[in-house]
Amino acid sequence: MNHVVVVGAGLAGIRSVEALRSRGFSGRITLVGEERHRPYDRPPLSKAVLLGTADSSFVDSDLEAMRVEHRPGVSAKGLRAGVLETTEGEIAYDGLVIATGAEPIRLPGEGRQHVLRTLDDSLELRARLVADARVTVIGAGWIGAEVATAARTAGCRVTVVEAGPAPLAHVLGPEVGGDTVPWYEGMDLRLDTMVAAVEEGGVRLVDGDFVEADVVVSGIGVRPAVEWLAGSDIDLHNGVVTDEHLRTSLPNVVAVGDCAAWWSRRFHTRLRVEHWDTALNAPEVAVATLLGDEAVYDPVPYFWSEQFGHMVQYAGHHAGARLLRRGDPSAAKWSVCWLTDTDRLAGVLTVNRPRDLVQGRRIIESGQRLDPLRLEDPEVGIRDCVV
Ligand code: FAD
Repeated sequence: MNHVVVVGAGLAGIRSVEALRSRGFSGRITLVGEERHRPYDRPPLSKAVLLGTADSSFVDSDLEAMRVEHRPGVSAKGLRAGVLETTEGEIAYDGLVIATGAEPIRLPGEGRQHVLRTLDDSLELRARLVADARVTVIGAGWIGAEVATAARTAGCRVTVVEAGPAPLAHVLGPEVGGDTVPWYEGMDLRLDTMVAAVEEGGVRLVDGDFVEADVVVSGIGVRPAVEWLAGSDIDLHNGVVTDEHLRTSLPNVVAVGDCAAWWSRRFHTRLRVEHWDTALNAPEVAVATLLGDEAVYDPVPYFWSEQFGHMVQYAGHHAGARLLRRGDPSAAKWSVCWLTDTDRLAGVLTVNRPRDLVQGRRIIESGQRLDPLRLEDPEVGIRDCVV
């Protein structure tokens, strides 16, 4: 293999480049990225950058020292065997890493609508979060909650419109999501409320009401950025389909990060996880696969969010598991666990309790059984509940 092309210069892209060089690949590497910036981290965009305590979040990687041909401002347009088609012509490859991430879903309507995906999005939005501005955030998910946090900190008058019965209900369920409702104190949180369109001067709701706003931010989710692959032969289904080695249906092509839907050996299902830890760690496996080694990507997915002064962390995949609380959700620190029908830990969510997160993630990895009665006592460490 002489030439590896990496498409997408986000975290998964740059980590792929680093993994290629650290595994001793000495051939040519081309990094193609739609954005004009050099690679940067996205989590600070809705935290430090939006709050104004940082102006950028560039990753500390020396592309020149790694002998990478970086092609900023170039978009991939299509894929044929051995050839990537781009806005700047065709690039032949021996190996290809697809790392094009995800793109925000926008609502219909002609009104100005901010989204938060890029550094430029974050800096533009930050400039508009000024005291007394009426800010409407659509979606009380991870991004929506963090934007609401920054807007409130800036002294804005914040409305949050959420289609579901509670914040975060689609990922945590309405019961646990409901525990975060008090965090929205001082804001106008409207649950079970659907937006029809973003119009001039505000947001039109499905029931006809109009919410006036100076700034509208849509945080209603993302979709994998794989439209450019539509005409190619690669398998697509909720992203680029891969096996447990992150190999796609095309020879010498792997996929990583937000755009990849990989087969999880651990959870016996296909997972596509739009979180930092996946973009950080999957490239090591994808590159090993590309270079002919037998690596398997089989993590316990992990993410965190910083909202309203709380550190929220989650590990696992808890579909179909039952909920068990550890501690009072109105207290400063609490967590919840999800147990399988054989009392194995499927997922853990912690609020200001990092120890539960660390122990919980290890227990999920090991698959040990827990004593549910002991687990209900937040004073007992999760690892001390193993039976
Ligand atoms: P991306 O970071 O999206 O990078 C993909 C790159 O590919 C982009 O630069 C894009 O422009 C480029 N691209 C797309 N299409 C093409 C094309 N056709 N041709 C060339 N280039 C293309 N996760 C957490 O776990 N915790 C957090 O607190 C957290 N906070 C976040 C806050 C924000 C505001 C955002 C946006 C995300 C956050 N995440 C968080 C998620 C995490 O940042 C993502 O999972 C991670 O960035 C995914 O990396 P990626 O490289 O797969 O995709």
